[in-house]
Amino acid sequence: MKMYSESDVDTTCLDGKQITILGYGSQGRAHALNLRDSGFDVVVGLRQGGASWPKAVADGLDVREPAEAVKDATIIAFLTPDMVQKKLYESVEADIPNGATLLFAHGFAIHFGQVGPREDLNVVLIAPKGPGGLVRRQYEEGHGVPCLVAIHHDADGDALKLALAYSAGIGGARAGVIETTFAEETETDLFGEQAVLCGGATELIVAGFETLVEAGYQPEVAYYEVMHELKLIVDLLHEGGLRKMHEFISDTAAWGDMISGPRVVDNNSRAAMKAILGDIQDGTFANNWIAENENGMPEFKRRMNADLEHPIEDVGRNLRSRMDWLEG
Ligand code: NAD
Ligand code: MG
Repeated sequence: MKMYSESDVDTTCLDGKQITILGYGSQGRAHALNLRDSGFDVVVGLRQGGASWPKAVADGLDVREPAEAVKDATIIAFLTPDMVQKKLYESVEADIPNGATLLFAHGFAIHFGQVGPREDLNVVLIAPKGPGGLVRRQYEEGHGVPCLVAIHHDADGDALKLALAYSAGIGGARAGVIETTFAEETETDLFGEQAVLCGGATELIVAGFETLVEAGYQPEVAYYEVMHELKLIVDLLHEGGLRKMHEFISDTAAWGDMISGPRVVDNNSRAAMKAILGDIQDGTFANNWIAENENGMPEFKRRMNADLEHPIEDVGRNLRSRMDWLEG
């Protein structure tokens, strides 16, 4: 494993150079503000009339239409939703200066061939391992969220240097920047969010809730058990791994964990994980997701509604409204 720290980074390659951030959502806002506060020259590229435009202006940033914003850029960060990047790249390609560096926070568009950049452009990845809000907050507190770095195309020999300088500017180098490839970042990121973080965790919660409610227990009690208390466990894991969790839970909980966990996540679940990974690796997932977008996302909307209309949502909303210490 190769990891870079702040001392490995030379940010002078960005002195007097412009960094353009396309998109001002979760990652875009965090990167733009952190880079500006690190002393870099930042321009934000957005559609005039879009919802993000006034936010970026209110934050004191130089905001322009995408084609105008990329014209003088040394680095152009594509921080729009992955499914928008192909069209956005095509709409600004003619205005991108020779030898510029395209930067992505997730490898999807490049790895699955949605964006095929000109040969003269460097193509790099700086992927923070956390949401934008955390990238901003950690930076403001003097820390950073760790990042991955990958080089897809090194047109001028400076791709890694520029990518690392950018990672330092957003605070990532304070926590460490691990070298990877576009393939590894894209495939592991998709797998993680599908099998474990978003898909796996929410399905586990909902199945646990339904099991208890169907057995006649009160939905409110079930909610506290399977949704509310998950945070405590995740925080312990995040801070100190399995060891810290085991230090803080009771022996009864630890015994139940070790005896029953493998019954829930059994060989069937592991086989399903392998199948999910296979669909990611061979492009099945990407092709289906791209097609879903092109069809106006009917299945996405149907499934999203089903998630949001699940009874656990009503129960949770009610209980959370009494816990005014929760961030809403
Ligand atoms: P987001 O949905 O929060 O923000 C998207 C932004 O793009 C908005 O400002 C929107 O107005 C703008 N936008 C949409 N269409 C546009 C267009 N045609 N032209 C210009 N701007 C347009 O997106 P995000 O979650 O920050 O994701 C950005 C990238 O970062 C993605 O590649 C994503 O995979 C990656 N990423 C996200 C996270 C995360 O936690 N959200 C973490 C790591 C990497
Ligand atoms: Mg789910």
